[in-house]
Amino acid sequence: MRIVVLPGDGIGPEITAATTQVLRAASERFQLGLELDEHAVGHASLAQYGTTVRPELLGIVKAADGLILGPTATFDFKDEARGEINPSRHFRKNLDLFANVRPARTYPGLPSRTGDFDLVVVRENTEGFYADRNMEEGNAELRVTPDVVVSLRRITRQCCERIAEVACQLAMKRRKHLTIVHKANVLRMGDGMFLEICKATAARHPELAVDEVLVDAVMAHVVREPGRFDVLVATNMFGDILSDLTAELSGSLGLGGALNMGTHHAMAQAAHGSAPDIAGQGVANPVSLILSAALLLDRHGTRTGQARFVSAAAAIETAVADAIQQGQATRDVGGSLGTAEAGAAIVARLQSKD
Ligand code: NAD
Repeated sequence: MRIVVLPGDGIGPEITAATTQVLRAASERFQLGLELDEHAVGHASLAQYGTTVRPELLGIVKAADGLILGPTATFDFKDEARGEINPSRHFRKNLDLFANVRPARTYPGLPSRTGDFDLVVVRENTEGFYADRNMEEGNAELRVTPDVVVSLRRITRQCCERIAEVACQLAMKRRKHLTIVHKANVLRMGDGMFLEICKATAARHPELAVDEVLVDAVMAHVVREPGRFDVLVATNMFGDILSDLTAELSGSLGLGGALNMGTHHAMAQAAHGSAPDIAGQGVANPVSLILSAALLLDRHGTRTGQARFVSAAAAIETAVADAIQQGQATRDVGGSLGTAEAGAAIVARLQSKD
């Protein structure tokens, strides 16, 4: 399996270094034969090549079996004419990574304020309110006058159908409970169509228990009783916001792993950003990207029928949970280790078990 690795900005290089060490340990133990092909992206690439994403990277990624993208300083990248491309948008759009799967769970040894839970947010990843990527050409944010801006949201039948199917299939493999998150009381046509398609898709999986919750209300429900949820499906921005909340409720945003998936490609990417407030201090939690990379291995193993990749992913998740339970973790989850040491604690667990 050849994986392209793009470390990104801020804490990106720190958590990516810990992640590649975990992958190397998993590769050795499970004989995965992983090849990691690292390239610059974001500010490092802008300084070196005059663009945050070199054009040839897309071909390199398409020819590989997976991509790991560290968090990037997307808020800094405003002018594509000056080479400031948002790497996350670039790969999600150009690889048609239409599903963003974001698991969140509590861990033994890490006290939860909300009770135990284990859920997955399935977020549509290519359209919705994301005006910088929801048009074939151009940008869907328009300045009408100096004081008036219009931002357009796009919802299509095809995107609703494919994200609904991903969510249903995932729920069928888990506890068979799907929650549709929407705002169809206001966005009657767009979210109305999303809701209707999710219900119709779920109806083709009769074993599923299905409910629906307004997006504002779901924020209260996941804080009050997250344990009642299994798989939640949402349009792009609602899913983005909801999944930051569920990651934080699980203990820290730094535990928020995510996999961006399309029909042909997949990209592991933490749910959070480049965290400039803690960048360079060696204190960021690497677990988010480590779990994202595990999701990438699991998908590769499932698609290609190679069980050792699925076993490697499960072993990484177990090693993460063990390390957290023993308090061998970063300060955001109550530990005292730095990023590299927290990664090393996970590596040690992978090496010590047979
Ligand atoms: P952020 O997600 O980077 O950080 C929010 C808070 O969570 C901060 O207090 C940060 O220290 C903490 N945090 C995040 N990851 C952590 C980790 N692994 N361990 C411990 N604490 C962690 O959000 P922000 O500060 O608003 O955004 C910073 C930059 O990231 C902006 O340029 C934004 O546009 C960009 N961003 C990028 C992505 C991406 O690359 N996919 C996603 C979101 C934001």
